[in-house]
Amino acid sequence: MFTINNVVQPETLKEAYEILVSKKNNTMLGGCAFLKLSNKRIETGVDLSSLDLSYIKEDENFIEIGASTTLREIETSSLLNSYFNGILRESVKNIIGIQLRNIATAGATVFSKYGFSDFNTALLSLDAEVELYKGGRMLFEEFLSKSYEKDILSKIYIKKKGRIAVYTSFRNSSSDYPILNAAVSCLDDNWRIVLGARPQGAKIADKASALLLNKELDEKLIDEAAGIASEELTYGSNMRATEEYRRALSKVLVKRTVKEVLQCR
Ligand SMILES: Cc1cc2nc3c(=O)[nH]c(=O)nc-3n(C[C@H](O)[C@H](O)[C@H](O)COP(=O)(O)OP(=O)(O)OC[C@H]3O[C@@H](n4cnc5c(N)ncnc54)[C@H](O)[C@@H]3O)c2cc1C
Repeated sequence: MFTINNVVQPETLKEAYEILVSKKNNTMLGGCAFLKLSNKRIETGVDLSSLDLSYIKEDENFIEIGASTTLREIETSSLLNSYFNGILRESVKNIIGIQLRNIATAGATVFSKYGFSDFNTALLSLDAEVELYKGGRMLFEEFLSKSYEKDILSKIYIKKKGRIAVYTSFRNSSSDYPILNAAVSCLDDNWRIVLGARPQGAKIADKASALLLNKELDEKLIDEAAGIASEELTYGSNMRATEEYRRALSKVLVKRTVKEVLQCR
């Protein structure tokens, strides 16, 4: 269990950031679901509750998700579920249970780049951007490739394009961590294949995605793309599965997910 000496609820992001970086062990607080599993000693916990960052809204071009939005709000949002075949709901619905999803926040999940993340894999298959207080706004893909730096994730943006997107995962039991997950999206015959929980975090399989570009897809081509995705990305071993098992599984998940996208078109 973690220990916190003080909790602050700043009125502005600027104030929150200044407190965050003023001491090494000052820490952002999301829903604290994950923090509670650690033995961290936190001097000051920075809580964003006063900043109205719990929302999902849209404008002409983007859907915007505030950092304090919970995974349960993402799962049940009729706005989000009216886009991208409800891929974000599909990605979070197996995370433990409703009580956990009522607490865990989108901002913490995205910022922490957890290797096993379901949400991040689905998000990477969309045209998503993140906004960081210090780092500014950038593509989610770019954020994932950056090294860790203390910052505050305030918003997630998803471009409202007509992407058809599907999420799948393979777990030993429904509420366990995923052994491997995949998200595939397609926009105008332009495909994006993402694999996550490898056990490293979500990554686009660029070569496999490029193979499908502007093609009439048949069984042979889908098989070939699945084979390329299994070779071009790295997979690792942990207590849940071996590297070899994940690599073999990736072919199945990619095939299955591409086919499901085809059926949704
Ligand atoms: C038992 C358990 C099982 C889980 N299983 C799964 C699973 O199967 N699949 C899956 O995808 N996820 C799983 N999760 C993770 C969960 O989905 C959330 O990602 C996780 O709980 C973090 O959300 P939180 O709001 O609780 O973050 P917290 O615990 O509050 O914070 C986590 C980290 O994020 C930092 N942080 C918080 N907010 C911000 C911010 N706005 N900007 C920058 N940094 C911030 C914190 O400082 C901390 O380092 C599981 C979590 C738990 C506790």
